[in-house]
Order: sequence, then C-alpha cells, then structure tokens
Amino acid sequence: MKRIGVLTSGGDAPGMNACLRAVVLTAHANELEVIGFQRGFNGVIDQQYQTLSPYHVSGIIQDGGTLLKSARCPAMLTEDGLKQAASNLHDLELDALLVIGGDGSFRGTLELAPYYQGKLLGIPGTIDNDVDGSDFSIGFATALDTALDAIDKIRDTADAFERIFLVEVMGRHTGYLAVAAGIAAGAEQIICPELAAELDLDKIAEHVEQARKHRGNCSYIIVIAETMYPGGAGTLAVDLESRGIECRASILGHIQRGGRPVGADRILATKLGAYAVEQLVQGAHLMMAGEINGKAGLYPLALTGDKKKQVDSYLLRWQQQVAQY
Ligand code: ATP
Repeated sequence: MKRIGVLTSGGDAPGMNACLRAVVLTAHANELEVIGFQRGFNGVIDQQYQTLSPYHVSGIIQDGGTLLKSARCPAMLTEDGLKQAASNLHDLELDALLVIGGDGSFRGTLELAPYYQGKLLGIPGTIDNDVDGSDFSIGFATALDTALDAIDKIRDTADAFERIFLVEVMGRHTGYLAVAAGIAAGAEQIICPELAAELDLDKIAEHVEQARKHRGNCSYIIVIAETMYPGGAGTLAVDLESRGIECRASILGHIQRGGRPVGADRILATKLGAYAVEQLVQGAHLMMAGEINGKAGLYPLALTGDKKKQVDSYLLRWQQQVAQY
C-alpha cells in the first residue's frame, strides 16, 4: 500500500479535522501518501483534491468544520457517478479510500465497492450519532454540549418568565441528540422518533398542566428532535397554543454543527483516525473503524445502518416517570 485517499462527507461534525490530522500523521508514519478530496464525494468525481502532509494538518486539532469541506453529492446516486468516481480513484492509483461521515456516506461507500478495486473504510463522523458499530460518532459530544449551553440559557429566561419552551435539536430521523440533551438539560418532556412516530398534542398539553399542578407556574422545557412535527417546532408551538398552552419555540439549528470540538471528540477522532489507517495497512476492507466500550474495533460497513443501537431507554423511562414533579 502506497497511497490512500480521504474525504469528509455528509453533515460536517466537530472533530473531523482532528480525525484528518490523525489519519495523515499515521499514514506518514507508515510511509503512505495521502490525497484529500474536497467537498465529500464531489472531489472524487470532479477531481478536486490535494496532497495532505503533516504540515497541512498541523494546528487543526482544535478547529471545527473540516479542512476538506463537506457536501452532499447527488451524482453518487447514479451509476455513471459511481463509475466516474471509481475511475478517478484508479487513475490516481489510490490503494484505499477512507470516508469520514455518517450513515448516508457509508451507503455511498458501499455502492462504490463493485466498481473500485481498492480498499474502502469508514469512520463515523456525524452529530446524529446514528451509526451502528460505535458507541459514539465524532461530533456528537460537542453538539450535545452546544445544545446544552443553549438550553441552559433558555431555561434562565423560561424561569424568569415562567414560560414554556419548545427547543428543537438536530438529528435527522433519530433522537440520540434530543434524548441526551433533554436528559442533561433536565427537560420536562423529550419528543423523539424512538418514543412515538406521531405526536399526541393532547398528551403533551396534559403533561404541562400536570407539572403546573405540582409546581405551580414554572418554566417547562420540551426538547424535540427535528422532523418530528410537520412544519417544525414553530408550527407545533402554534398548534399547542390553540389547546391553551402558550409556548415559545427555539430552533437551535446549525450552531449544533459548529464550534471547537470538546476533548471527548478530539480523543475519539484521534483514536479512530489512527486506528483506521493501521487497519487499512493490515488489509481491512468494507469495514468501519468504531469504538465500543472504550475499545477501537472494526464493524462491517454494510451493518452500520441497521439501527440496532438504542437511545438510553433507562434514562428515558426515568425521565418520563419523574418529569412532572
Ligand atoms: P449526516 O447524517 O451527518 O448528515 P450522512 O453521511 O448520513 O451524514 P447523507 O447526506 O445521508 O449524510 O449522505 C452523504 C452523501 O453520501 C450523499 O450526498 C451521497 O453523495 C452519498 N450517499 C448517501 N446515500 C447514498 C446511496 N444510497 N448511494 C450512493 N451514495 C449515497
């Protein structure tokens, strides 16, 4: 093995730079050349890339975003796009491609496999944390702290005005961030796809009223995962108001994707980046480098989207039992 490629794909996540640094430094120590593709799979198809040496990744461990930029790449959904990507990888004589991204990026990597002769390996980088085969994905810990910082501030003003707030957090189709942020912020309600596919507005309103019966007028925070309500938290606030529950909506949005990675993300990113390159050298193929119970390990890329990983049902149950008190 002489030359490997690397890209960051899908939603950007804090810690992607720390991971790129670990990949490049480990590759350098193993006498491998690294080609970094720009804007996810787009860089492979459009031949936009750069050689990455230790010099390029020096001092980026603390930076949010990604040095290589990230993007969605619709061309990967077509056979022509996949063939073009594989052909460009062959032209560059790349022995392997490392993909740092989420579940969708790994689907793209798997689709590329029939056309590309080299090795393919994934590293989980997404604030959604919705990838099987790793307890945590790079970026989740930082996004959680960012969401908490915002929700704590919302709590201050909610307390002062004894208001009800709906706080919408990211997590496309999954509630890892909503559950973690809701528990850690001491939210009175958590609404996420793992609890119910459809919302019962009467039940939500009833819970608010119960809490106010126990505590009198008080602040009340509902953390809701995005995509849980048509039109989002703003529309839900309007619809709850028609049931006599006056509330404010706050959509945290893209601030959750940015910021300096927290220590846990830098460490995870460093471990997985280093481990992935070491495993490539050993011949790993169509696997994801993940971490389970603190230990790095390989997990079949094809199983990463099976949705076997569960949100913390113990804490969620506890929260539901006590939140009105
Ligand atoms: P996040 O969940 O953090 O946004 P992700 O990796 O899941 O990250 P996606 O937008 O789902 O983000 O996927 C990123 C890219 O992966 C897509 O733009 C596309 O290029 C590629 N991809 C996703 N699904 C497929 C697929 N089924 N076939 C080929 N390529 C795919």
